[in-house]
Amino acid sequence: MISFDTAQSIIHQEAQKVEQENIRMEEALSRVLATDVFSDLDMPPFEKAAVDGYALRSRDLSQKLKVVEIIKAGHLPQKELKEGECAKIMTGSMVPIGADIVVMIEETNTDDEGFIKYFGKSKAANICHIGEDIQKGDKVLSEGTQIHPQHIAVLASVGATKINVYRKIRIGIISTGDEIVEPAEKPMPGQIRNSNAAQLIAQTAQSGHLPDYLGIAKDSPEALHFLLEQSEAKNDICLLSGGVSMGETDFVPGVLLERAYEILFKSIEVKPGKPTVFARKGNKYVFGLPGNPVSSFVQFELLVKQLLAKMWHSQPKSFVYMPLAADFHQKKGKRLSWIPINLAENGSIQPLSYHGSAHIHAYADADGMAAIPKGTEFLEKGSKLKVFLLRS
Ligand code: AMP
Ligand code: MG
Repeated sequence: MISFDTAQSIIHQEAQKVEQENIRMEEALSRVLATDVFSDLDMPPFEKAAVDGYALRSRDLSQKLKVVEIIKAGHLPQKELKEGECAKIMTGSMVPIGADIVVMIEETNTDDEGFIKYFGKSKAANICHIGEDIQKGDKVLSEGTQIHPQHIAVLASVGATKINVYRKIRIGIISTGDEIVEPAEKPMPGQIRNSNAAQLIAQTAQSGHLPDYLGIAKDSPEALHFLLEQSEAKNDICLLSGGVSMGETDFVPGVLLERAYEILFKSIEVKPGKPTVFARKGNKYVFGLPGNPVSSFVQFELLVKQLLAKMWHSQPKSFVYMPLAADFHQKKGKRLSWIPINLAENGSIQPLSYHGSAHIHAYADADGMAAIPKGTEFLEKGSKLKVFLLRS
């Protein structure tokens, strides 16, 4: 049995980057950049007014000034300012030659002849200078950045309408178990609905990848071989649920060995998810996730996502440390355990009532999950726990 941290490090070591593809900026949300992006221009690209007001020479601030033109955004100034002159200017317009300050319209008076006079106190220039945000040739986004809407704004501003990203990862999903029936069916005595496949498909899609559901394998090595072979032909990763523990019908590890996979781990000091299997054959990976829906869910979040992030050369989502809202008691745990939590007042966390790894309903209202260290029986209110947030 290996520690949970070791399991994560093994995944990091084994992960190989996938190839790049060139896509349109509009399709880039949630994808990861495969190259750095540079600016093709200075930003701002010209001396730009930051407020609506009057552009003038600062040494004329105390004078009565004649308005020689009105400059609107997107239009070039026509006049160079001379002594005693100013130009009415709109936010985002080009500041005329001669002006070194823009005063706010609210801080000026206009007399009967149309002359203006500044009465404010501020000497702020209210001008955004050429290249003050970004200079031509500057790196604006780095390889490995996961694209959020604000990154798309950066891409748009530098004209990067086509970008290189890592291609989506193809993920085969197989449920196992003689007792498993598809959700549309009414289970007969002894049967149970397949909730893992739908959950894993959704987790895959939410991570930005491509789920490929192959169906339910009966508890036999032949059935597993049949579906695994199909998955290998099309997918980078295969996620199996069930059939990984110590039961008579837990054939997954044996079948993976028969298929020439190297089993990198098959037992982790963690709850839920102890019998999670991770195996590799060349550039194909398999996770054998335990059949209980909570175990499968939690280990996708904690382990599968680490592999996906590394295959995209991006940073896996980080953990946060948050204090307990109240004292916590449990039966002494032999393994590190992850429990569902809600966010409570003042940035603290509240464990949710939880009956174990079949109790997926406990996760329906969870905001995240917290790690309770091995050997813990009691934790005082305020103790800080490592938390993985599920809503973000
Ligand atoms: P296993 O890991 O195959 O021993 O399964 C552990 C538990 O999870 C058993 O109670 C199974 O019936 C249940 N289980 C296995 N696969 C699924 C699934 N796809 N959906 C819901 N429950 C499952
Ligand atoms: Mg089973």
